[in-house]
Amino acid sequence: MKKKILVTGGAGYIGSHVVRQLGAAGYDVVIYDNCSTGSAQAVLHGDLIIGDLADLDTLYRVFFQHQFTAVLHFAASLNVPESVAHPLEYYANNTRNTLNLLRCCSDMGVNQIIFSSTAAVYGQPVTNPVTESTPTEPINPYGRSKLSCEWLIRDYATASSLRYVILRYFNIAGAEPGGRLGQMSKNVSHLIGVACNAALKRQPGIRIFGTDFPTPDGTAIRDYLHVEDLATAHLDALRYLEQGQESQILNCGYGQGYSVRQVIERVKVISGIDFPVIETDRRPGDPACVITSADRIRQVLGWKPKYNDLDLIVYTTLAWEMRQKGAIPNSIAQPKLTTQPKVA
Ligand code: UDP
Repeated sequence: MKKKILVTGGAGYIGSHVVRQLGAAGYDVVIYDNCSTGSAQAVLHGDLIIGDLADLDTLYRVFFQHQFTAVLHFAASLNVPESVAHPLEYYANNTRNTLNLLRCCSDMGVNQIIFSSTAAVYGQPVTNPVTESTPTEPINPYGRSKLSCEWLIRDYATASSLRYVILRYFNIAGAEPGGRLGQMSKNVSHLIGVACNAALKRQPGIRIFGTDFPTPDGTAIRDYLHVEDLATAHLDALRYLEQGQESQILNCGYGQGYSVRQVIERVKVISGIDFPVIETDRRPGDPACVITSADRIRQVLGWKPKYNDLDLIVYTTLAWEMRQKGAIPNSIAQPKLTTQPKVA
């Protein structure tokens, strides 16, 4: 019999990529999403139930109707400034709703969970690379609400048969190379999205937040990870739990950093379009450099990323954004890769 997986937030950016891969791997999938930021169009496999994790009646009904073997929990609010302005909503939507989900898992005997966490639980790490034993000191309500979910899951696992894989994501970008999935969000604020919008003339240019960091070119360095590789990490984590292995917290990134200037340069080269770049002050709370150590996730899950290439991340983002506007992305040249990924 096929294994049945519940994916909360499966109509969102990362969840939808994971759902597609679960379908390709032969899993039965039920997606539970309130579609506040996600979209039904992004669900390429499985059954979508539009519902909110705050609605325990509906959630229990879903658990009663299906016998899930595992839960992948993506549904969350994830905008840092919004979390500062509306902390109660963040603790409700992230922390309390994770508690709701764990209650259902507990009552219905589901004892495997994969949880989407974030590098924001580390706050402003002073040393690089960031490992799983780097102290967790989140600096905003978003990071704290996610860390409190981790504590919930860990404490409940200690008291029960639950086993978990918590994946702490670094900077996620890119889109499905087949062109069907990508980030739907209207108000893109992350660097690669903003730079692509600038190249596509949807905004006049881009601002660099800080050029006086102690980095080689003065701009901040981040570890950018292609969403397809992140999705694969979830399938690897699922197989790992299915083998009966012990719970894990794992950082998810390539272990390689790029500066803001380097990213902007690649967007210009790949799009073939120049755009204005304005140097401004640092954003409050932005660390100079955040790079993960990718050792543990590779060792523990046997994770083998295929899209570890900044040019491919930029190319797939640009292609997705162009398709959103009905343009065919043949004016941008696909980058030549050292390892060619398989496009499903
Ligand atoms: N950044 C920038 N201009 C932008 C957006 C981002 O200079 O329009 C910088 C930001 O200050 C940070 C890096 O790019 O140093 C990555 O930012 P992003 O918001 O993508 O991710 P974060 O690491 O902050 O979660």
